[in-house]
Amino acid sequence: MQTDEQIVGSTRSAKQTSRQNVCILGATGSIGESTLKVLTLHSDQYHVFALSGHSRLDQLAELCAKYRPTYVAVPADKGDAFAKDLRHRFPDVEIPTILEGELGLKQIASHPDVNVVMAAIVGAAGLEPTLAAVQAGKRVLLANKEALVMAGNLFMDCVRRSGAMLLPVDSEHNAIFQCLPSDYFQTTERFQNQSSRAGVSQILLTASGGPFRQFDLQQLEQVTPEQACKHPNWVMGQKISVDSATLMNKGLELIEACHLFDLPPERVTVVVHPQSIIHSLVQYVDGSTLAQMGNPDMCTPIAHALAWPKRIDAGVAPLDLFQVATLQFEKPDEVRFPCIRLAREAMQAGGTTPTVLNAANEVAVAAFLAKKIKFCEIPRIIESVITQLPMTPARDLATILHYDTTARQIAGSLL
Ligand code: NAD
Ligand code: MG
Repeated sequence: MQTDEQIVGSTRSAKQTSRQNVCILGATGSIGESTLKVLTLHSDQYHVFALSGHSRLDQLAELCAKYRPTYVAVPADKGDAFAKDLRHRFPDVEIPTILEGELGLKQIASHPDVNVVMAAIVGAAGLEPTLAAVQAGKRVLLANKEALVMAGNLFMDCVRRSGAMLLPVDSEHNAIFQCLPSDYFQTTERFQNQSSRAGVSQILLTASGGPFRQFDLQQLEQVTPEQACKHPNWVMGQKISVDSATLMNKGLELIEACHLFDLPPERVTVVVHPQSIIHSLVQYVDGSTLAQMGNPDMCTPIAHALAWPKRIDAGVAPLDLFQVATLQFEKPDEVRFPCIRLAREAMQAGGTTPTVLNAANEVAVAAFLAKKIKFCEIPRIIESVITQLPMTPARDLATILHYDTTARQIAGSLL
């Protein structure tokens, strides 16, 4: 499993406990933080076994001191510096086994002692480690929506073959999961027209509308990354905050929903709901519409996915409907926010087009955050890259990764 090259620092054997061993890919991020919060509430049931971090390694060292994981994964060639920092700042802490690079991420995700993997790396970088967890048949809590967008069919085929348990953490998909019949994912017919069998007519995916919901096109031209990262209802990482502001987050979630729930894009409707109290809804053929509601706090879907089919305390205050008082719903404006249309069309086109959409979006969002392009150029760049890269069947991982790289190169040339 491990080779000497990948192991930096001292090793120690995994603790043999009756608790579930949890691996958090992307422990230093917003979802990582919320996951650790929930795990702390239930330390009698869950053990923080492995953590990964990418850029904020000082923060990862603090997490090691606090949670004492058996393994950590850091970027390639960062292991020695990380061990030194940990030893220097926390001399009493036993150094965990330190793994490096993408291989290190795959190793912690598929480690035989791991029961649960939280997939919370942002962007395409999370695909292969998440696939490693799926292939190893783990209980996979999926926050990293980009993995599913870029490799949907391949990803879901892998889930079916490996018998992994894939549980959605994205609040909308977790809400939909909660509104579906409990055997939706458990029957042998899984993935075979399951939505029709369950009597689902459509899914209503709610969107807050983001911080620029009421901005006109002229105002949108002038918005800054600082404004885009100030979401009205959620505190999140920078990339997803910008995605929420362009509504590409909802576009990515539309594709995510199609794969998770085996539905065509025509049966997923986006509803703008500024209060973010209803996290999504499922409509049935008999006229029923089921919704899942709660305060906007990612600890709820994380706790749900961790404990399902049981329920555990998430540390989230119960919803006070008297305080909420009003729930509003609007149609999304695809002229001001073209990203939903781009994502729907990419899903309809299929093959490598969602891969290209995702890659071009990642490049454009990073350029916007670096103040190299304006907000309204994000969808223009994505559309231009999609037009330049005709759809090819996403036969295998190599094809997907090739289109991801090519799309990034083309997007980069447009900046
Ligand atoms: P974040 O930016 O706060 O954290 C990202 C994590 O990924 C960090 O731990 C970082 O070190 C790691 N990472 C970044 N680049 C990496 C790379 N190249 N290799 C390995 N690790 C890398 O992001 P977040 O808000 O926690 O979001 C994480 C994922 O969860 C995203 O896919 C996002 O769309 C999804 N999600 C987030 C929320 C939310 O409320 N934050 C809600 C739903 C879904
Ligand atoms: Mg979401």
